[in-house]
Amino acid sequence: MADLAAIDRYLAEHQREWIAELRELCAVPSVSARHQGIEECAKLVARMLERRGFAVEVCATGGHPVVLGHAAGTNRARTLLFYNHYDVQPPEPLELWDSPPFQLTEREGAVFARGSKDDKGEFVCRLAALDAVRAVTGSYPCDITWLAEGEEEIGSPHLPDWVERNQSRLRADAAVWEEGGIEVDETPIIRLGARGLLYVELSVKVISRDAHSGQANLLPNAAWRLVWALAALKGPDERVLIPGFYDAVRQPTDREEKLLRAAPKGAADIRDEFGLEQLLGGITDVNRAYFTPTANLAGIGGGYQGEGSKTVIPARAVAKLDFRLVPDQDPVDINAKLRRHLDSAGFADVAIELLGAERPGITDPDAAVVRLNGEIAAEIYGKPARVTPLTGGTTPMFIFTERGVPVVAPGVGWGAMNRAHSPNEFMRLKDFERAARHLARLAVRFAQAD
Ligand SMILES: [Zn+2]
Repeated sequence: MADLAAIDRYLAEHQREWIAELRELCAVPSVSARHQGIEECAKLVARMLERRGFAVEVCATGGHPVVLGHAAGTNRARTLLFYNHYDVQPPEPLELWDSPPFQLTEREGAVFARGSKDDKGEFVCRLAALDAVRAVTGSYPCDITWLAEGEEEIGSPHLPDWVERNQSRLRADAAVWEEGGIEVDETPIIRLGARGLLYVELSVKVISRDAHSGQANLLPNAAWRLVWALAALKGPDERVLIPGFYDAVRQPTDREEKLLRAAPKGAADIRDEFGLEQLLGGITDVNRAYFTPTANLAGIGGGYQGEGSKTVIPARAVAKLDFRLVPDQDPVDINAKLRRHLDSAGFADVAIELLGAERPGITDPDAAVVRLNGEIAAEIYGKPARVTPLTGGTTPMFIFTERGVPVVAPGVGWGAMNRAHSPNEFMRLKDFERAARHLARLAVRFAQAD
């Protein structure tokens, strides 16, 4: 057994060195939405892994490159895979930052910069954990594969295909997902799954140019066409009207039911946050509600929306829709059903542009690595982890869960406090240290399991 006290000591004594590496990483403004600093950041990530004995390749994907690293460890029969992303969200609005967004700045026990938490802080924390294990024991505990992508913040459009083509290089017994952490009250969090996503833009063009509304009984109106088409998709009772939409929805398993009964209901917090008397349909159990798919109208536009009046017939109208999908729905199937439904409802003129498709992913709560992760979380944070079977959002963990690779995610997060995607994003140094201890133990004990 590795000397855990020595590992913890090493983590405490060398923190400055990892924070210096994080500073270097955050100084590269790798904003994927603008294709900025991407090559430079991929190369820096590659160098950081190479310095640690990884064989690294910066792989073309058709979009931003994936950095793939492999290192051998003591137990060659086990492989632990780490998934991270080196891209970040844009820093705007700049005037709300108290220090420059790409200059890691330390104050009040935390470091501030875009990416300091999401996801460069998480990445460096994992480096720290493995550095400490290697320094104390002389090697990595098992084989390690590292996959760092550069398009997570824009929906990972090229990752699933790339993973499909590189299966043989990604074989692993478990994967550590991009981010994790604790609640504001320091309870460790274990999220077992993420919903999928279908994102589409609907558009309709009915005349060659905008027209005078004196002709409104002569000419079709794109805004009306679109509103009628949208009304055919969902009723006021929130039920999605696309035939077959719910066909593949599976109910929570008995095991998931048990987890749902033990999980917090969470409705009161959301009601308070948004000033509501009750949630939609009187929902009282938020975690259970995440097992229901959604059809969300994210935006709608067309015609005149400026000040005062303008009497116009819009030629074109556009709406953006996102569907959060649950096991076992498939975005490609739902997109096809959406097309068929619009056609048969008389809206063949409404075009669909596919903007994003990710499948849901869910890990077996009884996988050995999931249990191990929970045990270690309780040791590090002094209380049992809060387990939720499915979260409302989306992350492409299906690329591993669908292949039977269980996914866990210890990390540096502190509730929703880190201001990820917002000005003054930060990571607390004490969260960095505890997450590194968690990750080091996970790697060591995972390598010993059979
Ligand atoms: Zn993010």
